[in-house]
Order: sequence, then C-alpha cells, then structure tokens
Amino acid sequence: MMSKKYAIGIDLGGTNLRVALVSEDGEIARKVKKASPEEVFDSLLETIEEVKQGDIAGIGLGVAGLIDRENGRVFSSPNYHAVEGLDLVEGIQRKFNVPVYLENDANCAALGENARGAGKDFENFVLLTLGTGIGGGIIYKGELLDAAAEIGHMSINAEAEKCPCGNIGCLENYASARAMIAKAVVMLEKGTESMLKNCCNGSIYKITPDDIYKSALEGDTLSREILRDAGRALGVGLANLINILSPEAIILAGGLIGAWNIYVQEAIKEASRRAFKDVFEAVKIIPSSLGDDAGVVGASSLVFMKTATHINPRF
Ligand SMILES: [Zn+2]
Repeated sequence: MMSKKYAIGIDLGGTNLRVALVSEDGEIARKVKKASPEEVFDSLLETIEEVKQGDIAGIGLGVAGLIDRENGRVFSSPNYHAVEGLDLVEGIQRKFNVPVYLENDANCAALGENARGAGKDFENFVLLTLGTGIGGGIIYKGELLDAAAEIGHMSINAEAEKCPCGNIGCLENYASARAMIAKAVVMLEKGTESMLKNCCNGSIYKITPDDIYKSALEGDTLSREILRDAGRALGVGLANLINILSPEAIILAGGLIGAWNIYVQEAIKEASRRAFKDVFEAVKIIPSSLGDDAGVVGASSLVFMKTATHINPRF
C-alpha cells in the first residue's frame, strides 16, 4: 500500500489531455497524455481509471475555458467547445466517490508553479500558457486570485476581426500557436516563398509552431516574421499586464516557449518599449520550470489544499 497521500490531477486543454497520479508533495507517480477527446466525459473516466492506483484523496480537474465555479461547469471554451456545459464534477464524483474540484487549466498551472515550480519564490505573479490559445492565472499574495484571468482574451486591437469569444482583436488571435499557424497558411496559400512549403510532406495544413521555429532558425524569412509578429503582440499583452498588476514575475508556460529566442525575446523587447520603465524593470519574465506538468501538479494541489484546510468545497 502507498503510504503517501495521492490525488489525481487532470489538465484538459484545447489540444492535450494529461492525467497524473500526484503525491501530496507534488511528485508524479504515473502520467498519461492523449489528444483532447471529443467524447469528453467517457474519455475522462477511462483515463482516470488507467492512472488511478489505490486510494486517492480526490480529483482536481483543470479545463480550458471560463469556469462556472458555483455549478462545477465550464461556461464557455472558445478553443474547446466539447467541454461547454458538461456536468463534469458531479459525473466524476459519482463514479469515483471522492471530492472533485474544477478550475481553469491555466489557473491550475499557476497553482502548480506557485507550489512547486518557478513561482515558489514570488508572492505575486502572472502565469501565461502559450499554446493553441493563451490562458492566464494570477497568484496574488501567495494565493490563486479568484478571477477569470482570461488574459488571452484581452483586446489589443479595438478594430479587428471578431474572436470566437465575442470580443474583438483578442491577444490570442495574434500571439497564439493557432494565430501563427493561420498566418503561415494564409501566406503560403498566397504563394509566399518559404521553407515551410516543404515541411509536413507538403501539407501546409499540418504545420506546427515547431516547424515554424525550426525554419526560422535556418533563416526562413516568413517563419521569422511570423514569430516576431506574434512576439510583438504578446509584448503588448505583457505591457498591459505589467502596467495594471505590477507583478514580481511573469511566468511563461506552454509549447510556444520552445521558441523563446525569437518569439519571447521579441515580446520582452516590445513590453520594455511600452510598459512604465520602473515597473517593467522590477518584473522578472521567466519560463515555467514544471513545463507540461504544471497543470496536473496544480490540479492535484486543489485536492490537497481543500482537504488540508477542511473548508467546504465550493462545489
Ligand atoms: Zn477572445
């Protein structure tokens, strides 16, 4: 039998589902990663079954989207409609008979970094997940700020195209992986010369941000331009966050930080031009240290936080 206390942490994003068995001290005992399913509920139950071992203290669930904390549902998820309105908490609770807690996926990543990662030494920081979309979580005075923190849907362009969320000119329409790929496809369809034409066996619709970064490193003009433009847009968002919240740190997570040397560097440069100088200089902009595990570690910590303090779960 296991002597430590364990919980299941789930990170259900727009692209990947990660489910892990995590100990109270944040160590991952088992982990499974899959593509985010269309049949969300059944797939979740099945994956939890795969990972679960022995008794667990509970299940923490981080999901991409705006969370209805009162009813344990997802109000809206522009990048992952399949989760909208599902009664996930109640359903999982019924099946496994343990407490289930729901949070936004980026909020979970912020909790993970706060407890075990790059945020350990800060009282106030903002975490951004840079992936298919852009998520955000805010740690304020050592705790997760109970706010939507939909940083990807901060408008950086008042007159632009509409975002699926209903707003116009959202940050993630310019600075996310989806935005980069969309731009690559448009430019290639227009006949722009680029190494990207040759990747993915010529199927330009399969281009990934990794392909764009690799081509950029090899000197491909279009790829460099895509990463720089996305980086500048991210920098506008960072400047806004810095001016409004003056955090001690901004922690960047998600697949796109692999392109740090072009994309993030450009963002930092742009933010430095725009934010109040003194506030900017006090902020550390650093990468996540838990990487892809931040979400599952943070989600599992929801369980330990709630069971440790014996407060009534909000759900
Ligand atoms: Zn939006």
